[in-house]
Amino acid sequence: MAAISGIFSGKASKTFKPKKNIPEGTHQYDLMKHAAQTLGSGNLRLAVMLPEGEDLNEWVAVNTVDFFNQINMLYGTITEFCTAENCPVMSAGPRYEYHWADGTVIKKPIKCSAPRYTDYLMSWVQDQLDDETLFPSKIGVPFPKSFLNSCKTILKRLFRVYAHIYHQHFREVVSLGEEAHLNTSFKHFIFFVQEFTLIDKRELQPLAELIEKLTSKDR
Ligand code: ZN
Repeated sequence: MAAISGIFSGKASKTFKPKKNIPEGTHQYDLMKHAAQTLGSGNLRLAVMLPEGEDLNEWVAVNTVDFFNQINMLYGTITEFCTAENCPVMSAGPRYEYHWADGTVIKKPIKCSAPRYTDYLMSWVQDQLDDETLFPSKIGVPFPKSFLNSCKTILKRLFRVYAHIYHQHFREVVSLGEEAHLNTSFKHFIFFVQEFTLIDKRELQPLAELIEKLTSKDR
């Protein structure tokens, strides 16, 4: 079970927000299973490709849910270190600082601590994933026209959690023995967003060097 719902089953069991489940018996569940199996083959470039005959929206939906769950778990392992004292701002190294705005409820970006920012961010993503008009889980219910654009925003924001973990908490990740888990998850994420051009290069700048390193070895 764990191998299907969390594609990479690390040691971590604590999640930051509740895990988002894809209901068993649905086509999305089968796609999720397919993704887990192809990932097991070790060829990430191949694993992220749209499976033959499948719908792009559905494929992006399933993977977006999975990335949310992975990041949820990864961040969950370091919450004791990511405190308002240690991380008074949501940063990704000295050159990047994020202020939270969701564009609807909070329009004017607010400067807040990293744990608060991440809480806003993950709650916001959770709301998007739970919105049946945006992420329909029932068979035959079409995805909205704006679906891919919405996913782009979700993935762009989720990237910031990786960026914060890598820049501010990598030592702790290593001490927890979660380094390989983090790298595999991030590499999968990057290969996926590159395959479908889902995040603007500019947004990926805070981890540009790492991305270069992770993606240059195998194409
Ligand atoms: Zn932090």
